[in-house]
Amino acid sequence: MRYSQTLIPTLKEVPAEAEVISHRLMLRAGFIRKLSSGIYSYLPYGLAAIRRVETIVREEMNRAGAQEMMMPMVQPADLWKESGRYEKYGPELLRFTDRHERESCLGPTHEEVITDIARKEIHSYRDLPINLYQIQTKFRDEIRPRFGLMRGREFIMKDAYSFDVSDEMAETSYKKMYDAYNAIFQRCGLDFRCVEADSGTIGGSFSHEFMVLAETGEDTIAVCDECKWAANLEKAVVRLAGSGSREETLALVKVETPGKRKVAQVCDFLKITPDRLVKTLVYIADGEAVALLIRGDREVEEIKLKNYLGATDLRLADDKEVFDATGVPTGYLGPLGISIRLLADQEVMHLANFSVGANEKNYHLLNVNGGRDFRVSEVADFRRLCESDPCPSCGGSLRLVQGIEVGHIFKLGSAYSESMNAFFQDSEGNGKPLVMGCYGIGVSRVVAAAIEQNHDENGIIFPVPLAPCQVTVLNLGLKDTDISAAAEMIYAKLSAAGIDVFLDDRDERPGVKFKDADLLGFPLRVTVGKRFQENGMVEIRRRRDGKAEESTVDGLVDLIRRRLAELTGQR
Ligand code: ATP
Ligand code: MG
Repeated sequence: MRYSQTLIPTLKEVPAEAEVISHRLMLRAGFIRKLSSGIYSYLPYGLAAIRRVETIVREEMNRAGAQEMMMPMVQPADLWKESGRYEKYGPELLRFTDRHERESCLGPTHEEVITDIARKEIHSYRDLPINLYQIQTKFRDEIRPRFGLMRGREFIMKDAYSFDVSDEMAETSYKKMYDAYNAIFQRCGLDFRCVEADSGTIGGSFSHEFMVLAETGEDTIAVCDECKWAANLEKAVVRLAGSGSREETLALVKVETPGKRKVAQVCDFLKITPDRLVKTLVYIADGEAVALLIRGDREVEEIKLKNYLGATDLRLADDKEVFDATGVPTGYLGPLGISIRLLADQEVMHLANFSVGANEKNYHLLNVNGGRDFRVSEVADFRRLCESDPCPSCGGSLRLVQGIEVGHIFKLGSAYSESMNAFFQDSEGNGKPLVMGCYGIGVSRVVAAAIEQNHDENGIIFPVPLAPCQVTVLNLGLKDTDISAAAEMIYAKLSAAGIDVFLDDRDERPGVKFKDADLLGFPLRVTVGKRFQENGMVEIRRRRDGKAEESTVDGLVDLIRRRLAELTGQR
């Protein structure tokens, strides 16, 4: 690739609209340009980086036995009505009607289309197992598109779908994808973790997310360094320590707590620690008020609550809503005699002699005990895991880190095949629903995540496998000089050696060329300048640590091969 013949419009200024580093750098390096909210054009060098990811993804998917295909982006609404998702999917699904008044939508994902293909084309157990994938543009009308390619409305995804005869076989297909995903992100040269996304009901875990670790990640994940367990906090299971309190239960006491509504105020006043107080929080779940009991020093993991309730919308109630639903002002609520649906975090049922609101303004109760003083039929794990909790798998200590979700694998079972009638004949001639799995990778997001993880104040530092060009050759000579001739020769030699090489042959000052080379993140830079005229030497510099060395033109190809091999796999 020659700079003079391509479009890489680098910027000196930091674009004001970009909040995260990858977005800023992708704009500054001329990788992308915004067309409208969450919708970007990929300029040549940005697209080349995306293609790198695609190549790795394609190779590993093919190696795992999956077949590439391509499905349409425009999908008939009728298919989505069959699966029941036309209503359920919500406003992220962009719907429209064509000139014949036919309802359609833009594919945010392709379960419906692939299931339609499967029901028409897969008839027998002999056709199974099969795994089909595509690398294609998706559209999701995200409520808050942001961070450039990290959360776009239009983005590139690899999506794969597996079909099997049984649950057991589907688990084998799942495991293959699990291994393929690990291989993909390893090959990309990224620091990532595979995390449990759902503990599943049949023992094992049937949903995993692949997270690139980066400070700006939107997800918080808990990792155990002792046993390699890792989970998204949204779903991380809290393991209760011990089997509950052995304290003797004391007699219930009602006390006046005038004006004390907040946990800290009540604890101060009653001279207790927050772990002896149980909060009663009111949430509005799809319009219905529900109360949740949780220890005073704990935080609710709202996703767990939302999943438990099967709610699409969940938020804390405001003071008026609390009063309207319960007849009690905020701050004095408690489980005894409460009139609305009551849930409890599992930990509460293991406490003894705790304090709660008395369901009466300015009063609290002391020495409350679950079971004796009130009953809750809905007890589950609703709290957020914290760093002081033991690892749920080995009891070891945990660390919380930020991650960017780049991949997600999911065992679907037969939900789609049943609702859409995708059956096959088993070896005895019985009709059975296909057992499915789905597997996504945010290809364009991977490039953004790689930059979040690999950059410095001067620009991108591409891991070797993701760099569109691994080497840039800077021609610091004017036209028709020895320097230019040597730079051209080096470019030709490296290209002939199968190395992806870039030539900065612009009529620009050296300072500009150095700055752009750093910004674009080439792992190696070869400078052909004054030193070449003096003694025939060129300089090779590593982008990651700035280490520089000299070489003759003759020895250059070998040296570059060695340096690239060393850098590959290094972070
Ligand atoms: P998120 O929680 O980030 O919204 P999701 O659960 O909606 O992700 P999936 O439906 O599992 O995502 O999609 C598969 C992959 O596609 C994700 O792991 C992610 O890498 C990528 N992806 C999802 N939404 C976007 C988006 N708006 N922009 C870019 N990539 C995306
Ligand atoms: Mg999403």
